[in-house]
Amino acid sequence: MALSGIQIYKLLPQTNCKECGFPTCLAFAMKLAAKQVELSDCPYVSEESKTQLAESAAPPIRLISLKSNGYEVKVGNEVVLFRHEKTFYNKPGVFIKFSDDIPAEEIKARVEKADSFVVNYVGIDLTIDGFAMECLSGDADKFAAAVKAVRAASKRPLILLSQDPAAIESGLQSLDGEAPMIYGANADNWEKMAELAKSHKAVLGVTTTFLEEATDLTEQIKGKGVEDIVLGLSSKNLSTNLIQQTQIRKLALKKNYKPLGYPTITFPTSAAEAAQAITKYAGFLVLDSFTEDFVYPLLVLRQNIYTDPQKPIQVQPGIYEINNPKPEDPVLVTTNFSITYFSVANEVEGSGMPAWLLVTDAEGMSVLTAWAAGKFDAERIAKAVKSFDVADKVSRKRIVLPGAVAVLSGELEAELPDWEIRVGPREAVDIPKFMKLVLA
Ligand code: SF4
Repeated sequence: MALSGIQIYKLLPQTNCKECGFPTCLAFAMKLAAKQVELSDCPYVSEESKTQLAESAAPPIRLISLKSNGYEVKVGNEVVLFRHEKTFYNKPGVFIKFSDDIPAEEIKARVEKADSFVVNYVGIDLTIDGFAMECLSGDADKFAAAVKAVRAASKRPLILLSQDPAAIESGLQSLDGEAPMIYGANADNWEKMAELAKSHKAVLGVTTTFLEEATDLTEQIKGKGVEDIVLGLSSKNLSTNLIQQTQIRKLALKKNYKPLGYPTITFPTSAAEAAQAITKYAGFLVLDSFTEDFVYPLLVLRQNIYTDPQKPIQVQPGIYEINNPKPEDPVLVTTNFSITYFSVANEVEGSGMPAWLLVTDAEGMSVLTAWAAGKFDAERIAKAVKSFDVADKVSRKRIVLPGAVAVLSGELEAELPDWEIRVGPREAVDIPKFMKLVLA
């Protein structure tokens, strides 16, 4: 657990010399607890205190980073058990697994297909994060060739899966200068695996069945000088998985239990397992295969879970052109909450009819929420019309309010007296019909 200001104060010299820029050591301690200053600003902290303070400042779940060719996947560093308490910071990495028992050309073709997958969701490009190669052949040379085949088809980070240190060492040969994960350290091979992780600057994944065993292993591996560790529990049972993942997260966050203060890796084989892993509390997901209809909803779920609930995804307020509108075409108005914007924009685009879409600054809230919060009213809409020079773009001044805020039409008429105010449908899905029947 992070130390409080008072606990930090007890470790400071308590001379109130002011050299740190604060009038007292207590004031400095309070700022340090709030992570607003650096410990090095006080030149008089003893070495013993420095060690204690550094330990307390370490995140309860270690930040792990896999890197390759400009790509980086960061997981860990989480500080809350539930997203609504603050936010979740680092999305779990989604990796696609292949094995070395299929021909290199087929590996390349499959990797290329998954590597190029990108889907735009509310303005954000969603992709997978990397690939895992599993040694099933038992042949170190074959494994190395399979790793090379993946690397030839993708630059994304890799996870090497084998409990045979010789195979892992062989696979690592073509990943110089990268920070991959090697997965498969157990009670029998951990020393050799730790040596490989250390010499190749790789993250080391441990595989165990029980938490007690994981605790022993991480302590032993840490003793060998390897700090970047990932925990893999071998349960394939949904409820056991949930219990273990929750216990690890709770022990790390609530008890600051360092032996389990690492991200986890899971190998889901069904949509239910994968969805559970994203929500509770996997650091890495290694999927058995790649299909767009399996991966797409997982990426969307991940995006939603790892969006800061206090900072809605927003689009830039402004006037957007849809289907090449001309001056006589109507102006539809909505808010700058991403999901609202894309729902409306997609329906207008799908209608095939041209329109101007005026997006007002509603602090990222949806229409009804913004209206209830006083962030989407006639005054703000009129202000947006003026600030984005909408009147200069149209010859027929027609503006369409969302049906959910029909109540604003009278006030908007008063704000925009030379405009024709229309009330659109309540649901975005009804926009095409409305445009064809009412606005055409
Ligand atoms: S420099 Fe150190 S000893 Fe001096 S007031 Fe600041 S915290 Fe206290």
